[in-house]
Amino acid sequence: MNNSIALEIKNVGKTYKLQDDNSLKALDDITFNVKQGEIFGLLGPNGAGKSTLINILGGTVIKSNGLVNVWGFDLDLNPRQVRASIGIVPQEINVDPFFTPKKLLDIQAGMYGVAKKDRITDKILELTSLTDKADSYMRSLSGGMKRRLLLAKAMVHQPPILILDEPTAGVDVDLRQKLLENVKELNKQGVTIILTTHYLQEAEELCDRIAIINHGKIVALDKTENLLSEIHLKKITFKVKNFKNIGDKLDDHLKIEYLKNNQISIKYDKTINNIEDIIFKVKEKGLEIEDIMTEDADLEDVFIKLTKNL
Ligand code: ADP
Ligand code: MG
Repeated sequence: MNNSIALEIKNVGKTYKLQDDNSLKALDDITFNVKQGEIFGLLGPNGAGKSTLINILGGTVIKSNGLVNVWGFDLDLNPRQVRASIGIVPQEINVDPFFTPKKLLDIQAGMYGVAKKDRITDKILELTSLTDKADSYMRSLSGGMKRRLLLAKAMVHQPPILILDEPTAGVDVDLRQKLLENVKELNKQGVTIILTTHYLQEAEELCDRIAIINHGKIVALDKTENLLSEIHLKKITFKVKNFKNIGDKLDDHLKIEYLKNNQISIKYDKTINNIEDIIFKVKEKGLEIEDIMTEDADLEDVFIKLTKNL
């Protein structure tokens, strides 16, 4: 395996057995890599299969087929090394109400065999802005604090890869920002980050690359900027009085599509062309414009388009 790859997912599938001989294919042979040092986003609607994949990595769900390699370790052959290489922040908040954050982190460190002298409990509490709450009872922590505590918990053994499943679900705006800053800071320190979310904006803000998953399949995977460049895409449609062929391009960037009902439509990148310019060019070709309609493509559209087709 290439040294610069942090996580390799190859043809990984998961079929859940349901009652009465029914089954549900939650992951349909997906393949992708995450590079070391990346913030990688797994974006998809509820039920897409994101948590299933994360839970396979965490060992709480057993994959039906495929290969998983984490930090150079095969999940089937070296599950302990895999476990040591990742810290997982689960989607569900489940913290024992009878411990204080500090105690909880100590217990977790013990479970991972981190020697007392090597523990960085105070540092982690500081990083997740929980120092003030170190000795408080869990029930006095807000939802956002509990979520940051889960992040802290995932970090006790200082894994090179951190995986966050819907990190900001149910977290208010301020704390959400704080949490995202924590994630960015960790990444700056060299931690590879994988996060799942169904918030487009969150993925946009944080991720170097985004995979879009729907019905257990990867439907898009690209650098965030490339996915976003789709968003600059707009569409303008003209209804014309004297419908005729004026060629297949207005210029290098402007491809013409001929539609029914005397309409032609042109997709354009709003960072390259503006509407007036296009209208001018259409008129220049001798077309008499009766009506103009424009459509915006934003990430939401891209997302819906990609996730609807399957
Ligand atoms: P996401 O995290 O993207 O919302 P999940 O991985 O939680 O999606 O779920 C994917 C699909 O698998 C859903 O249809 C869900 O109902 C189903 N599923 C998840 N966990 C189980 C399970 N333990 N048993 C049966 N079906 C499950
Ligand atoms: Mg989920």
